[in-house]
Amino acid sequence: MRNFRNIFFALITFSLMACNTEEQPVQQHTEKPDYALVIHGGAGYIVQGRYDDKQEKEYIDKLSQALSLGDSLLKIGVKAVDVVEQVVMLMENSPLFNAGKGAVFTAAGENEMDASIMDGSKLNAGAVAGVKTIKNPIHAARMVMDSSKHVLLSGEGAQQFASAKGMEIVDPDYFYSENAWESLQNALESEKKKEKMGTVGAVALDQYGNLAAATSTGGMTNKMKGRIGDSPIIGAGTYADNESCAVSGTGHGEYFIVNAVAFHISALMKYKGMSLQEAADHVVNGILKEQDAGGGVIAVDYNGHIAMPFNTPGMFRGYIKAGDEMVVKLYGEDSD
Ligand code: ASP
Repeated sequence: MRNFRNIFFALITFSLMACNTEEQPVQQHTEKPDYALVIHGGAGYIVQGRYDDKQEKEYIDKLSQALSLGDSLLKIGVKAVDVVEQVVMLMENSPLFNAGKGAVFTAAGENEMDASIMDGSKLNAGAVAGVKTIKNPIHAARMVMDSSKHVLLSGEGAQQFASAKGMEIVDPDYFYSENAWESLQNALESEKKKEKMGTVGAVALDQYGNLAAATSTGGMTNKMKGRIGDSPIIGAGTYADNESCAVSGTGHGEYFIVNAVAFHISALMKYKGMSLQEAADHVVNGILKEQDAGGGVIAVDYNGHIAMPFNTPGMFRGYIKAGDEMVVKLYGEDSD
């Protein structure tokens, strides 16, 4: 595991040591909302001053747009699994995040994307890994869940499947973004630039009591060709079970895999009777932090309680509950 530590991780470790970013738990209302949606756009070195006003506004606007879309769908009775797919697609289409359009580059200068989705009402899931030409990897993950007998398809096979199902296939150049390319150059030059991750995710509780989770990513800058992270691994980066919670993670994927982060949180609730906040904190600010593994999760439980802990300086995040104002936050200092 130690060998996995690249510059990116060293910087996250530095950030963990340098900043005390533990957040106050999200204030919970006692009444169960009709529905709830939580999203993230990645965790990492997201600190005040890193972005100018215009960039800050762009992130806030895009996160707000994603929440508004989800809110309008949940309000009219669309199911959680459809909502998380749509919301993640919207973020995949933005160059701001490390998913779809804005995916980061491998050491070989390519984009290899991972995504997964899980329907907590059926304990059914779909995922794709290492895809290079599918415009919306989360949609491909959904198709794997709905229209194949498998859970996870990778590389060429996943691309052929997507194209056979009529999904939009694009030239790999579509995924070029200035930001992601610059990050790779910095990593290659070993310049100690403080990284942010930028994976996107959504978790939702719908009006029928169903929970669902979706996660999409370009992985980690300068990753080895062929490396697959936690995001397409059910139980690591994504998990949903109507009897406990729905979780989507962002962070150093190798650690999310070995700690089965998303399932771990669900299991702590289900088998140990922990609250969602306790379970999520235990994993993110306990287990992961002790291993110097940077990252965070978003989660919602069957009662509409939400949690968004992270152990990095910041995490792009937001939530909305039926009838309430939406909340969007970027930095660790913005208590929830
Ligand atoms: N978890 C992702 C991965 O390791 C990276 C991220 O969240 O930014 O692939």
